[in-house]
Amino acid sequence: MTDSPAGGALVPPATVAFIGLGKMGAPMAAHLVKAGYRVRVFDVAEASRTRFAESNTGATACASAAEAVKGAQAVILMLPDGKVVGKVLFGAGNDGAARAIERGAVVIDMSSSSPIDTQATGATLAKTGLDMIDAPVSGGVKRAVEGTLAIMAGGPAAVVERCLPLLRAMGSSIFKTGPLGSGHAMKALNNYVSAAGLVAAAEALLVGQRFGLDPALMVDVLNSSTGKNNSTEVKFKQHILSGSFGSGFALALMAKDLGTAADLAHHLGVATPLSDACESLWREARAKLGEAADHTEIFRYLQGLGAQGPQANAKRT
Ligand code: NAD
Repeated sequence: MTDSPAGGALVPPATVAFIGLGKMGAPMAAHLVKAGYRVRVFDVAEASRTRFAESNTGATACASAAEAVKGAQAVILMLPDGKVVGKVLFGAGNDGAARAIERGAVVIDMSSSSPIDTQATGATLAKTGLDMIDAPVSGGVKRAVEGTLAIMAGGPAAVVERCLPLLRAMGSSIFKTGPLGSGHAMKALNNYVSAAGLVAAAEALLVGQRFGLDPALMVDVLNSSTGKNNSTEVKFKQHILSGSFGSGFALALMAKDLGTAADLAHHLGVATPLSDACESLWREARAKLGEAADHTEIFRYLQGLGAQGPQANAKRT
């Protein structure tokens, strides 16, 4: 193995900084270690970075983002949103990691950020000669652990090309979506479709259940019929009817993604009444259930709305 030449494909044992070791970031970074990259990690939670370095031999835990990026040819961010990405790259003090990134390195935002924020971040990085791509993911914690994520990569074609070996270490389907920000736009729109499908199925189950239908049977029927979607296939029996509500994807993050999709639609002047309704429903659920709730708890939230019985929820005409 040889180190990646400047401007060449980012193959092992290139040095990669990985910032954000949460439910998704930790298993994704572990795949890079396994693939032979030299991985330098940072998370604001000290316990997360220590745990990562202890269970991934060869990885280096760093005390700040600015320290993690030193000598790195790629800087991967897997953070809650684009605002946090901006703070880590350009903030004061120990944030402001962009100043310490070496010329020729690529910044890869794998968080589900707003495409509008991402275009601004990319323009700021370009002023200091740094390339950026956005490469958000889909598939949840399960596929992050398996290394089989779907990845939506946006940015200049040659830069995306350089990053493919890195992305392939974490995902099995890599889509080149277009210019910078297009991956983040695609991701927000995907999550709108996913969240709307989850709510549609949840409402159907709550109505059916009150009518006397068995919810588990309803999921079986939906999965053999045209009402099937990702939630009916991999969420209802597993995380909702079982009562575990443990998918590993926070309701607050889904609400954030719906806000991103709605903002994008408004920015572009596209009328999206269903997306708007969905966004406000999830925003209200986030306010009620709190930041720690799993996104599958939207079912509990809807159940709570219906708890007062038919009169209180009669359709207003
Ligand atoms: P998470 O909350 O588990 O992880 C976020 C991590 O970022 C935490 O460990 C936190 O300590 C760290 N962090 C926050 N601010 C920081 C800072 N200033 N500097 C360094 N570290 C900081 O979230 P997650 O579920 O891993 O999601 C990460 C991103 O991936 C989000 O944008 C989310 O929308 C997206 N996503 C999540 C899933 C999922 O199933 N969980 C699936 C696809 C995409």
